[in-house]
Formats: sequence, C-alpha cells, structure tokens
Amino acid sequence: MSKVFVGMPAHAPAGVGALHASESFPAAARTALADTQLRRNLGAATTTIRAKREAVVGELADWEQLRLAGQAIKAATMARLDEHLIRLEEEVTKRGGVVHWARDAAEANRIVTGLIQATGADEVIKVKSMVTQEIGLNEALAEAGIAAWETDLAELIVQLGHDKPSHILVPAIHRNRAEIREIFLREMPGVEASLADEPQELAMAARAHLRRKFLTAKVAVSGANFAIAETGTLVVVESEGNGRMCLTLPDTLITVMGIEKVIPSWTDLEVFLQLLPRSSTGERMNPYTSMWAGITEGDGPQEFHLVLLDNGRTAVLADEVGREALHCIRCSACLNVCPVYERTGGHAYGSVYPGPIGAVLTPLLTGVLENPSLPYASTLCGACFDACPVRIDIPSILVHLRARSTEQTRKPPSAEAIAMTLASWVMSSPRLFGWAGRAMRAGRLLARRGRIRRLPPPLSAWTAARDAPSPPRQTFRQWWRHRDGGTP
Ligand code: SF4
Repeated sequence: MSKVFVGMPAHAPAGVGALHASESFPAAARTALADTQLRRNLGAATTTIRAKREAVVGELADWEQLRLAGQAIKAATMARLDEHLIRLEEEVTKRGGVVHWARDAAEANRIVTGLIQATGADEVIKVKSMVTQEIGLNEALAEAGIAAWETDLAELIVQLGHDKPSHILVPAIHRNRAEIREIFLREMPGVEASLADEPQELAMAARAHLRRKFLTAKVAVSGANFAIAETGTLVVVESEGNGRMCLTLPDTLITVMGIEKVIPSWTDLEVFLQLLPRSSTGERMNPYTSMWAGITEGDGPQEFHLVLLDNGRTAVLADEVGREALHCIRCSACLNVCPVYERTGGHAYGSVYPGPIGAVLTPLLTGVLENPSLPYASTLCGACFDACPVRIDIPSILVHLRARSTEQTRKPPSAEAIAMTLASWVMSSPRLFGWAGRAMRAGRLLARRGRIRRLPPPLSAWTAARDAPSPPRQTFRQWWRHRDGGTP
C-alpha cells in the first residue's frame, strides 16, 4: 500500500478569516466595558438563558452520565479521526455527494467560490454557520462578485448592521429591539416606517425579506453540527426553520464542516441531541433537526458538496492538552456562565469564537503567538467546565496556554518578575526575612486609615489598580517573642 505524506499540522494562516484579533483582549475589553447599553443587554440575555438551561438540565437524573458519555465519544472519535473522516468521505460519495478537503481558510474559500461560479449563480443563501465566519467566506465571495445572504434572524441583524457576531448562539445578543428596528428600517428594502419594535413585527419583516431570497436562490451554503461517518449523513440543528429552507429549496448545496464535527454512528448522535439543545437554548429538543445524505433524485438539491476543513485543527489535535477543545459542540453554555464574557461581550475576544471556548480554541488554531492575550481572558473560576456538556476542562487548557505564551514570548524581565525574584531571595534567608519585616514597617508612614493608596515607582504599578494594606505595628516574629504578655 502506498502512503501519501500530507505535511505537518499547520496553524490557521494569518490574513484570512476571523481568528486573528486586531487588538489585545485587555484593550478591546476596556472599550466594551464602557458601553453600558451592551452590558445591560448582555446581563439580561445571559441571565435568561442560564435560568432556562438550569431548569431543563435539572429535569434529567442522568445528566452527569450523559456528559460523561459525550466526553467519552468525543475522545474516542478524535483518537481515530482519520479513519472516521475517510469513512465519511466514502459514504457521502456513495450517495452522490462530492467531498473536498481544504487545508486552510484560503483553500476552503477558493473551493466554495469555484463551486458557486460553476453554477453561474451570483448570490447564495446561508444557514448560520460558525465555520464559514471563521474562514471569512462572505468576504471572499464578495470579492468574487457573489452576494451571500444570511438567513438566521440574528445573523441577518448582524449582517444588515455591518456588525460582527458577539455570541455563538445569539450573534446579535448585544442589540436590543429598538436598535434592530433601526437596522431594518435603514437596510431592509420595502420596510415601512410604521414598523414597531415588537418581536413579532420584527420577525415578520425579516420573514418577508427572507422568503424572497429562499424562493430565488439557486445555491445554499451551510455548516454542520455533526456528520455521521457510518452513513455519510450531515446534521444541522436550528430553531427557526430557515436552515431547512436553505437545505431543501436550492439546486446546489455546499456544506463546509470542520473535521472535528464527525461522529462515528447514529447511537452517538442520540447522546449529543440530548446534550446540545438543553445546553444551548435551554430547550428539551431543538425545533428543527435536518439530516441528509448525498442527493435524492427529484427531491431537494441535486448537487451536494462537502468541504472538510482543517485550518489548524490537526495542529490542535497534536497538542496533548489542547486537543480537548476540539470536542466542543458549540452550545455556548460556557459563555453564558462566564463572569468575564458577561461583562465584555463577544467582540472583545476579536475572534469568531468568543467566551471561554474562544479563549482556548482561537489561540490553539492560530498558534498562541497570534492571540497571546486570550488565554488570560478568564478568572479561572471553573464555571465553564461545570456547564460544558462534554466536560471540556477549559481552565486547564487556559493554564497550559498561559505557560506556552510565557515560554514563546520571552521578554526582558518585568518589574513583577524582578520583584518576585527578590522576594524569593529574601524569603529563603531567615535573617534577610527578619530585616525585611522590620524595614516594611516604614511603610506605615505612607498609610492613611490603614491603607496605602499610592506607592512610589515602580511599586506604583501595583497601587494604580488597588490599595495596599498598611504594615502591622509589629512583625510576626516580634509578636511571637512577646506573645505571653511582654512588651515588644
Ligand atoms: S466548550 Fe463546552 S460549553 Fe463551551 S460552547 Fe463548547 S461544548 Fe458548549
């Protein structure tokens, strides 16, 4: 048997797609924190979704067993990912589909653009898909003169608002009703000025707009939540039915899927279809689950292409700690419980993947040097692990990436590092430690009402963000010596 060398795993290339933050997380977070409307919207939305999730998860006595099963299936699948992908390719091909392999975002965009151009279409309709945002497909299509129309309501709001998604599940979570009305009035042809900012009216306006697209588009582009290797079946779960329209009405369907979305069998799907809706929308089951395998003559699209995307995933798989991030089923539960995400929102992460999973997945896909601040966008409180339906140990991956970021970005020692080295030197000598303790009492001169509010440079960096407590009147050693009532 001849073997083909497919090259070493590579990270997602810079300059294409939506994985490369243009500013550091602390800088972007500062801007987001100043936006009170954004914080109000985020607080209200995440509180509601959290409560719904907790209620439906609490109904299942075997929820923890389901989580363990999801974790085990994902780990076993990743251990034999190559075999499952080849089986998937065989089964899709057997049923009339065509499979394409894309090493990175640029190659995937080239493949999809070429496929659309071959049909003669100059516009496509899209099912909500994170992976096509990851590769910057809409922008690549626009450069080729092809208009891409988002059909998920929240994605449509983001697209018409010339905005970026800020949540995996609810991309327009940062917008309120009044803002959405403004966007529709400005950008949606045929919308009347009497449009109210009531959810039903807004939904009906979007519905009328999208119907025109559904009935005329010849090509649709989708992502996939799962792909079942044993039968070559693609699965899309959604809430609005727009996905079903895209998947069934056009002549040509192109699905772009990250290689980690494959699962071996239908029995595995059973586990994930219980875990996903409860964790994402807080529903017992999602309203629309569309499944298809290849093509069926006279029914639905007559041409089906599946693009399997790497874009850094095999590099993540090669990372023994980080590979767990590939288990993610994009439910967004970790975002909704994260105290950092709840305050900054998704834009601060600078990537299509926000929140705790974005803080690990993005630097894993791009290489940590491309996004060195993201692993620090966390308090390491562990709420993300508790909420994750497939038990991804995000805090451990964050710590792993922080260590790697420190190793790879070696700089001249910071003031903090110098202070820590000095502290270690002083603390390892009892005599020096005693002198230092006595010398510290001089700090009492700077204290007002028990707190030191400003220290001289370089220690001023510490007091810029917090007070230091006033040193005590006596050191511990002095207290110990005189603890039986003597005077210090
Ligand atoms: S990491 Fe877990 S909780 Fe977060 S989106 Fe992925 S599956 Fe959901």
